[in-house]
This record gives sequence, structure tokens and C-alpha cells, in this order.
Amino acid sequence: MSDPKLISKIPEGPLKDKWSKRKSSIRVVSPNNKRKLEVIVVGTGLGGASAAASLGEMGYNVKIFCISDSPRRAHSIAAQGGINAAKNYQNDNDSVSRLFFDTVKGGDYRSREANVYRLAEVSAAIIDQCVAQGVPFAREYGGYLANRSFGGVQVSRTFYARGQTGQQLLLGAYASLNKEIANGTVKSYPRHEMLDLVIINGEAKGIIARNLVTGEIERFGAHAVVLATGGYGNTYFLSTNAMNSNGSAAMQAYRKGAFFANPCFAQIHPTCIPVHGDQQCKLTLMSESLRNDGRIWVPKKKEDVMKLRTHQIKPSQIPEEDRDYYLERRYPAFGNLVPRDVASRAAKERCDAGFGVNETGLAVFLDFADAIKRLGHQRVEERYGNLFQMYEKITSVSPWEEPMMIYPAIHYTMGGLWVDYDLQTTIPGLFAIGEANFSDHGGNRLGASALMQGLADGYFILPYTIGGYLSHKFSEPKTDINAPEFVEAEKKVKERIAKVFAVKGTETVDSIHKKLGHIMWEYVGMARNEAGLKKAIEEIGKLREEFWQSVRVPGTNEEFNQELEKALRLIDFFDIGELMARDALNRRESCGGHFREEMQTEDGETKRDDENFMYVAAWEYKGEGVEPELHKEDLVYENIKIVTRNYKD
Ligand SMILES: Cc1cc2nc3c(=O)[nH]c(=O)nc-3n(C[C@H](O)[C@H](O)[C@H](O)COP(=O)(O)OP(=O)(O)OC[C@H]3O[C@@H](n4cnc5c(N)ncnc54)[C@H](O)[C@@H]3O)c2cc1C
Repeated sequence: MSDPKLISKIPEGPLKDKWSKRKSSIRVVSPNNKRKLEVIVVGTGLGGASAAASLGEMGYNVKIFCISDSPRRAHSIAAQGGINAAKNYQNDNDSVSRLFFDTVKGGDYRSREANVYRLAEVSAAIIDQCVAQGVPFAREYGGYLANRSFGGVQVSRTFYARGQTGQQLLLGAYASLNKEIANGTVKSYPRHEMLDLVIINGEAKGIIARNLVTGEIERFGAHAVVLATGGYGNTYFLSTNAMNSNGSAAMQAYRKGAFFANPCFAQIHPTCIPVHGDQQCKLTLMSESLRNDGRIWVPKKKEDVMKLRTHQIKPSQIPEEDRDYYLERRYPAFGNLVPRDVASRAAKERCDAGFGVNETGLAVFLDFADAIKRLGHQRVEERYGNLFQMYEKITSVSPWEEPMMIYPAIHYTMGGLWVDYDLQTTIPGLFAIGEANFSDHGGNRLGASALMQGLADGYFILPYTIGGYLSHKFSEPKTDINAPEFVEAEKKVKERIAKVFAVKGTETVDSIHKKLGHIMWEYVGMARNEAGLKKAIEEIGKLREEFWQSVRVPGTNEEFNQELEKALRLIDFFDIGELMARDALNRRESCGGHFREEMQTEDGETKRDDENFMYVAAWEYKGEGVEPELHKEDLVYENIKIVTRNYKD
């Protein structure tokens, strides 16, 4: 039995009818009443921009907030490879059911069946919407939209715009958003960072934000608040995420009563450019789309490894028979297109065994020689040209001549704010969408499914479900931003800022964040164990104290001060890191990206424990320094047979 505090509101009835049934039962707000209602949307990535544009078009009064100087510079712009949809354009027997099945299986049976089915169901409409907006998806000769494959699937359902899919999708959403801004239904607040959530009588009624240019602390009220603030991968300091990505808004909500679900489910992406030095602050992704044609390998012989590391030979000089295409060897059915968690662990296994191909021993090859031979230069250029160029710019090695070197890195977080079927958190009036919620991906997200989920939430789910909540609110007056709850929240924010400046220590924010990253990667990274996780909790506690004794934030609050911004986010990263370790400690099973060393099969694969852990772990904040309380939402699979994931045959 699920915890009574976690009411998922999944509609009764057959899986295929649940979403239609829910939609038809949601109360609709009439156009003249929509005009009376205000909604705050925090975040302008694909989740936030699509939601704000849709709500504005529907007639609500929307305020949107983001950290960057323009909404279209949100992290989503970085997405490269594509977006999934069950259109079956390739006539390869794809369907809603197959996308649903692949997603649940890919997530290692730790996601909600009804949500995933809905996601697959609305996926096709996303593509139509984006095409109508003018998103320039790649096309075949005959005019049909082109597709490619991503990991964990055996069909081609990924729509793409070269290696810039996120950018093109965001430009589409941004154009719609601009129309609403011009119409006056959406008001945009760029360079405004939410620093607290305001709750009145148990309901979300507004936010406190800092104007990042002037430092002014401002109050904003509404009838409902939507968080679309992205994921918390930067807890690890080094990740593929944008530098501004953070988990602070989610943590502010958590501290005010929103449960945080499955925090330990973080995705490690197998194809990133390896870490190359101590001064690095960012990692670069090489899109998963490259695994459509690139082949992953390491040498079979240790002597070749040594020669590579000392630059005595080039990879292209190693003959075919001396190469170990380990994914093709271990997983013949899926080969190089196994899901990300599987590919990442396999790379780690080869590197741990001493076959890593660079000086640090932490790299494997991604090779296009076969593809260039098979497809020709021009077709490879068309598919991956900008990615090859990016790789060459960063490493000075041309993938046309030698294979790329890649290694896994933190990329995405499946965990996030717990939401019900309506995408509402445990705080009434507070909704979470996109990567900020715990979403539909279970223990591991399949490639090209984040954009699908963010846009499904923003274009087709939230705009309807939020109506159910708002339909009871139109007779309420506008939220009073002079209410004591706003005054108190603003005071607390100002005190926190003053406390940070008062430390006057000697360490930079980044140097402390880097230490947090080391703890996280070492103990809460690709492989986790009980002793390491306990150590992580202890070490994070010590580091938090170090921060409060030795951080130095120069300048003042009353100016553009990025050190202050980073310091405030780091305070939240400590709490997220600790929560991730606590959740990983509790989940004594291996599933998806969460690999507990104590729980593995003889050949090193994940070993789930369905009897004891087939649940969403939702954590409730209990106060500073107090252990959070765990609530469990049971996962019930009525339409899918639960099996051990198998990508071998
Ligand atoms: C390099 C890279 C490539 C990727 N490629 C793909 C791909 O090909 N396909 C795919 O499906 N997925 C891909 N992903 C994942 C995908 O890009 C993200 O999961 C998705 O874009 C997240 O969208 P979002 O709208 O939830 O959040 P984001 O795009 O992260 O946007 C968050 C927004 O919230 C704002 N914000 C955050 N905190 C605050 C605050 N406190 N106050 C005010 N504003 C705030 C930010 O300014 C921003 O506007 C990729 C990820 C990376 C890192």
C-alpha cells in the first residue's frame, strides 16, 4: 500500500483510456475567468517556455522567470541528438505501446506505468506542434521527416535537427512565447532568480526573486506556481549541464513541504569528452546519436594500450582483430545502442580492467572509420558534421582521421520533485514539469526522451491539469504580496545573503564546489556501496561547515554578482548531494543508473530487488539537521510484464 501522503491520482480504467478519461473530467475555466487568474512559471527551457506559451495563449496571466539574459538561452538549447515520438514514419513497426514499453524497460521498471503511457500517447502531437511552429527537423528526399535511433530501442523514432535539436525546438517555443509577450498575456522577467517559494494557508502563492542585475529582492504573487527549473546534475560540479543549471528552486520547494522523489537516480552519459585537467569547470557531451554509426572499442592487448598512452602508435594502426568492440561482444542484440547506464558501466569495466586508452586510463574509442567507408564522407558530414567540428575544436583531433575518445559523465537527473498524475507536487498549487520533476524515466532515461517529456508536460499536460486546480480559484482576489508570509520569506532571503557575505573567508565558491563534486563522483557516482555512501553523507556535512567558515564572496548584493549567485546555489547543492546519498543508501538494489556494488549479477549487471524496492522513494523535509522522512509510492504494473532487462538477445 502506498503512503497516504502520496496520492498519485492515476485515473481508474484501462491504460489506454486513462488520459482521455482524466482530460474529460477536468473542470474547464471559461475565457473570461482565465483573465482573472495569474500563474508564475519559473524556468524558460523547453518545459517552461512551452507551458508559459500555452497558458498565455489560453488566456491566463503568466509571469515567467529565468536566470539568463533571454528566455531562449535556457539549458535546453544544448540538447543535441533529438526528440522521440511514436510516429512510425520508418514503417518499422513502432507504436505508442512500443514507446511505452521501451521507456518502462529502459527505466528498469521504476517509473509510473500510467504516466509513461500518456507520454508515449502525446508524443506524436509534439512533433506536429513543432513542425507547425517551423522547427526545421531533418527531412528525407521525399519530404518526410527523417529519423534515427537512440539507445535502448530497436526502431528509429528520434526526430532531429542536425546536432542542434534543443536549440531549434526552443526557438520554436520561444517564438510562441514572444507572441504571448507581445499580446500581453505573458510578462517576462529574465535575469531574475527565484530564491524562495511563498506558501499561504498551505498553498503555493508566489515567489521571492533576486533581480540579478541590481540585486533587488522582489515579491511576485499568483494563483499557482509552476517550477520548470531543470535538473540538479551540477551537484557533481563537472557535468554536461549548462553552468547555470542548479537544483535550488526544487530545494526551496522541498524545504516548504514538497516531497523530493528518487534523488539518487542520476544519469551518467557514456559519450562525453574525458576530463582533461584540474582546472576544468565543464564537460562536453558527444551526442548519443553518434552511436548510430560510431563503434565503441578498446584494444584487446595491454601492450597496445601502453603504446597508445605513450603516443607510440595511433588507434588507426591497431588491426581489426586486436580490437575489442565490447558492447557488440557483450550485447549482440543492441550492440552500440544499449541504454546509457549499460554503456557507461561497460566503459568503466574496461577502464577499471586497465584498457583505458588515454594517459589517465579513463577513455574508450568511438570510431567512425566503418561508417565513413559505408556511407561516404558527405552523408556522415550531414548527420554529424557539427559534432565532429565541436570535437576537433576541443581536442585538436579530427574524428575523420582518428576515433574520438570518450568517457562517461554526469548528464541528467531522473529524480526531482514528486508530482501526481496532474504534475502537482505535494504542495497544492505548486506544479513541477520537465527535468525538475521526478518524471517518467524511472532509474534510467532513454536518449531523446527528455525533450519529449518536457514538451509533453508543457504543451499538452500541464495546460489542462492546472485548470482543474485553477477552476476553484477565479473568485479569489489577487495574491497580496504584502501578506505576512511574503514579508517573512523576503526577510529570510535577505538574511541568507547577508550571512554568506559575512563569512569573509579565503576560499572561492568553485573550489568548495569542486570538493563536493569529488565526493559525489567518488561515492555517489557510477558505482555505490554502503560504506562509501555513509562516508559521503559525513564528508558533505564537513564540507558544508567548511563553506560557512571559509567561503569568500566578493562585491555586494546590490550589483551583478555571479559569485553570490553561485554561493547561494552551492548551499542547496550540499543538501541535494546529501539527499542523493541518503536515498542511494536506502535503495539496497541496483537498478538503471543506480548501481549498488553489493547487488550485481555474476557478470556485473544490475540486480534489482522488486520485492523490496518497487516503489518511488519520496523524501519529506523535517527541518535543518534533521533526517528527512521516507514515504513510498508503490509501483503497480498491470500492463507490462516485469522482467530482468536483457539487451543481449
Ligand atoms: C549537452 C546535453 C545534450 C542533451 N541532448 C538531449 C537530446 O538530444 N534529447 C533529449 O531528449 N534530451 C537531451 N538532453 C537533456 C535535456 O536537454 C534536458 O533534460 C531538458 O532540456 C531540460 O529542460 P527543462 O525545461 O526541464 O529545463 P532547462 O532547459 O534546464 O531550463 C531550466 C530553466 O530554469 C531556469 N531556472 C533554474 N533555476 C531557476 C531559479 N531559481 N530562478 C529562475 N529561473 C531558474 C533556468 O534559467 C532555465 O531557464 C541533453 C542534455 C545535455 C546536458
